[in-house]
Amino acid sequence: MNIPLLDLHCIHDEIRDEIRAAIDEVCDTQRFILGPKVEALETEIADYCGVPHACGVTSGSDALLIALMAEGIGQGDEVITTPFTFFATAGAVARVGATPVFVDIEPGTCNIDPARIEDRITSSTRAIIPVHLFGQPADMEPIVEIARRYDLIVIEDAAQAIGAEYRGRRSGSIGHYGCFSFFPSKNLGAFGDGGMVTCDTAERHQQLMTLRGHGAQPKYYHKFIGGNFRLDALQAAIVSVKLRHLDDWTAQRQTNSERYRAAFAAARLDAAVVLPEAHENTTRHAWNVYTVRLTGGRRDEVRSALGAAGVGAEVYYPVALHCQDCFSYLGIAPEDCPESVKAAGEVLSLPIFPGLTEEQIQYIVDQIATVV
Ligand SMILES: *Cc1c(COP(=O)(O)O)cnc(C)c1O
Repeated sequence: MNIPLLDLHCIHDEIRDEIRAAIDEVCDTQRFILGPKVEALETEIADYCGVPHACGVTSGSDALLIALMAEGIGQGDEVITTPFTFFATAGAVARVGATPVFVDIEPGTCNIDPARIEDRITSSTRAIIPVHLFGQPADMEPIVEIARRYDLIVIEDAAQAIGAEYRGRRSGSIGHYGCFSFFPSKNLGAFGDGGMVTCDTAERHQQLMTLRGHGAQPKYYHKFIGGNFRLDALQAAIVSVKLRHLDDWTAQRQTNSERYRAAFAAARLDAAVVLPEAHENTTRHAWNVYTVRLTGGRRDEVRSALGAAGVGAEVYYPVALHCQDCFSYLGIAPEDCPESVKAAGEVLSLPIFPGLTEEQIQYIVDQIATVV
């Protein structure tokens, strides 16, 4: 068998004609940057997330960057986030000149541990960036409560979690900003790079729109130093088509997660393989990947065995961000965030994409059973 971590054919082949029609429409108008397709997607994503505003941008990385810029966060400011995430989360903080402050994760969900946040707040703290890792919302209620008390901005990194719900609220609608990525491997991927920022007020939205076009307001009159963070129309048109299918795909991911749980239990592997834990406040998990943990130093062996059996499994992420060379200037010791270091040594993400079959899931579990 050959089962990649993500088979985009399963997602795109069935809707190829719909996508082609959307691409043709853009070709007919020759409006390639911003324009009606981007505006339509902004409205659709805002409605989907249950927020008043959205601003299409170049990528998920730039979504984070522009949200920080919109708040004027920079030199001398501190931003609290998790070290167990994709690099872009903390990279954005450093790129605006602010200092990332890493708070360790809850071992069960691999999301930032709200109980450890307050200790790290100083007079320089401006924002918190929780990440909804692997498609599961961070525990937002205590985070929002702390932010309110200390007057901090909350920027949700929802790049892996579009459509996920925390106590019935969609990811991206709980903080002041929500940042989404349309990178092809995300649950709602474009045919290239793209992203979206959701936000709660018209003022914030206006600032995002201004910064997206080099801070000009009106054109050629630059009040601020922004950048080129514009989403292109082809990507927006494709993402709009795919958004109509997203709930169906998320339901299939959900079904696959249940199949994994049943297959691991039937193989009596649920003790040897630590299955992903759903937080009690997660009312809808988006399941970007299915991440298990293998204790006792067996992770790399299992990964190799899966690779040899034709199964794509990936380590998200092998090095916690506080241990990355580029952040050595922060002087953080690995043991400052021990749960993140531990997770980096144990996690293994398995395929869960829509279209993955029960037989394929059984095969993956059988392959793991041969080595643990
Ligand atoms: C993918 C991702 C990003 C960055 O998105 P890009 O569109 O690739 O720039 C940011 N944060 C997290 C958690 C991600 O998974």
